[in-house]
Order: sequence, then structure tokens, then C-alpha cells
Amino acid sequence: MISKLARRVVDMRSDTVTRPTEAMRQAMSRAVVGDDVYGEDPTVMELEKKGAEVLGKEACVYVTSGTMGNLASFIAHCDRRGSEIIVGDRQHTYLYEQGGASTLAGIHPRVVRNRDDGTLDIQEVMQAIRPCSGADNDDAHYPRTVLVSIENTHNECGGVALPVDYVKNLKSSITSKGLKLHMDGARAGNAAVALGLPLSKVCEGADSISLCLSKGLGAPVGTLVAGEGKFISRVRRAKKALGGGWRQAGVLAATGLIALDTMHETLSKDHRLAKHFAQELNTIKGIRVPRMPQTNLVFFEVSGISLDDFASKLKHEHGILLSAGYGRSENLVRAAVHRDLSEDDIGAAIDAVDKIMKHIP
Ligand SMILES: *Cc1c(COP(=O)(O)O)cnc(C)c1O
Repeated sequence: MISKLARRVVDMRSDTVTRPTEAMRQAMSRAVVGDDVYGEDPTVMELEKKGAEVLGKEACVYVTSGTMGNLASFIAHCDRRGSEIIVGDRQHTYLYEQGGASTLAGIHPRVVRNRDDGTLDIQEVMQAIRPCSGADNDDAHYPRTVLVSIENTHNECGGVALPVDYVKNLKSSITSKGLKLHMDGARAGNAAVALGLPLSKVCEGADSISLCLSKGLGAPVGTLVAGEGKFISRVRRAKKALGGGWRQAGVLAATGLIALDTMHETLSKDHRLAKHFAQELNTIKGIRVPRMPQTNLVFFEVSGISLDDFASKLKHEHGILLSAGYGRSENLVRAAVHRDLSEDDIGAAIDAVDKIMKHIP
């Protein structure tokens, strides 16, 4: 009999659980390093150069996390206290980053609705811009609107990729008011693969972008922020102030280089398996997939059993972990497909859900 402990755990809680590959570990052990705060780590410099190329921007900086990447970008865009950013109500930067922009940087968030496709209504954005946006106007009643932040792919809206034309239209509308556009592209690689476009196209309309290397791309740590040279210099300052001055970070950057090289192949596989998973789930009684996944995140509704029971049975009887009660919904589950999951793992998850749902009285 196989003991419970020996059973393989299929961890679908998030794509952040991916572990560095053997190639990454070897690259770490060989990485040429220096002091990154002095700008002297050759491997970090190589990653930043490559990041700028891949993201199609003038410059790039390697930071510790997506949260730091977004916050440092906000700080760099909003050089005066009392600045305001317009952000969607279902975005990570608004929901899950502790309000760091306001608590740490004196930035005021103005929230507009995210539509189900992850976009913000451009009209609503334009109406939310304060009369004293831009440089000169100085009406003392208002904060100054400086930036709009979007998310791509949009996690809470089902891992959807934002259409490139939408991003461009939003950008040209807000540019007329002197605002900049930031893209929280934690999973922008997934957007690129889903849209069949290079990453540089996906973030072309944005002034700045942050891309997580530590999610589906499989690196253990790290995020790239890209934009204009002057902007990236300000992000570097903010990064240091936020405690992100890491020294011989080349041991980590070495994994980022591999993550970028293997991105397309890895994420394509993830998306294919996610689609298969969703299709099979949808045939199980009591399970409903409201929308077929475009990328690696599969959202489904469960009925006839409480989510706690469902998740607990999956975990304790089958060794399958996922995020139950995702967002604010009472019956929604999120499963993240990622590079450490095989076709067999997905098959095991489908079988487990099937068994549980069959046994509901
Ligand atoms: C994970 C995530 C982040 C934050 O990344 P961390 O590296 O966990 O700080 C930001 N935005 C989105 C959309 C994310 O999914």
C-alpha cells in the first residue's frame, strides 16, 4: 500500500509554486556575479539587456517581486505626493498589494470597474481623470491624476489577455490628458502566447510594464520592469529605497535568462493542458466552467457540495491542491496550470474531481 505521505501532490494553487529546473540550478552555480547595487553584476546586466529587448523598451531593471515592480513603477511615475492612479477594481495592484501605493508612497488610488474581459471602460477612465491632471493645472481640491494601471493577463477576470488594440486606444486617450500607462504584466508572457504575438507587441501601448519571472516562467525569484531609460533610473532609485538593493543577484538572474528562453514552449504547453482540463471538468455533473480558459488559469463553479468539503476531499483523499473560494465568490475555484504539472497530473485531477462529484448524495 502506498502511504499517504509518498503520494505525489498535484499543486494547482498557483503558478508561483513552480520550482527551478535542473538547467536553472546549474546556471545558478556557474553564474558570474558582482555587486548589482554598483551596477556591476554581469549576469543581472545581461538579463536586463535581454529583458529590454524582449519587452521592446529602452531599458529594464530586475527587481525582487511583482509587488515591488508595480510599487517601484508607481513611485517612479508619481514623483509628487498626492498623485493619483486610476486602477481597476479587480486588479492585483488594488486588491492584493496591501495598498502599498498609498501607505508607502502617498499615492491615491481611484478605482474604476473592471469589465469581465479585464478591460477598463475608456469613457469611465476619462471621466475619472481629475480636472487638474497633467503638469500645470493646480486646482487645490484634487489630487493630480498621473497614471492608469491595467493588468495583463487579468487574473480575477479569468486569466484573459487584453487585446493589443484596446491597450493602444486606452493609451492614446489618456495621453491626450498627459497621463501614462502602466501594465501589471505579471503574466504578460501568457498573454503573448495566447495572442500569438511577441511580448514587445503585447506591451507596446504601455509606458511601463512589470513581468514576473517567478510564475509560469519558472524562475525562483524576480520580476522585470521595463520602460524609458529615465523612468527606469527612477525605478532603480525606488527599488533601493524599498530594500531591493540585492548584491550578487546574478545567481538569480541566471535563472531569469533561462525563463525567458523557454517561455514560449512552456506556456504553450500550460495553455493546452488548461484547455483540456477545463473541457473535461465541464462534462462532470455539478461542475461548470463559465468561460473556457484563454491561458493557464482555469476557473470553475462547484455545486451540490460546499467548497470547503470539495477542497478538503481533493486535498486529503487525492493530494490535489487548488484555490477554492477564489475572489469574492462562494462557489468559484481557481486552478493554475504550470510547468511542473504533467499530462498525468491533470488526468489525476480530473479523475479526483469526477470521483468526488459522483459520490455526492
Ligand atoms: C502575482 C502577481 C503580482 C505580484 O507578484 P509577486 O511576485 O507575488 O509580488 C502582481 N500582479 C499580478 C496580476 C499577479 O498575479
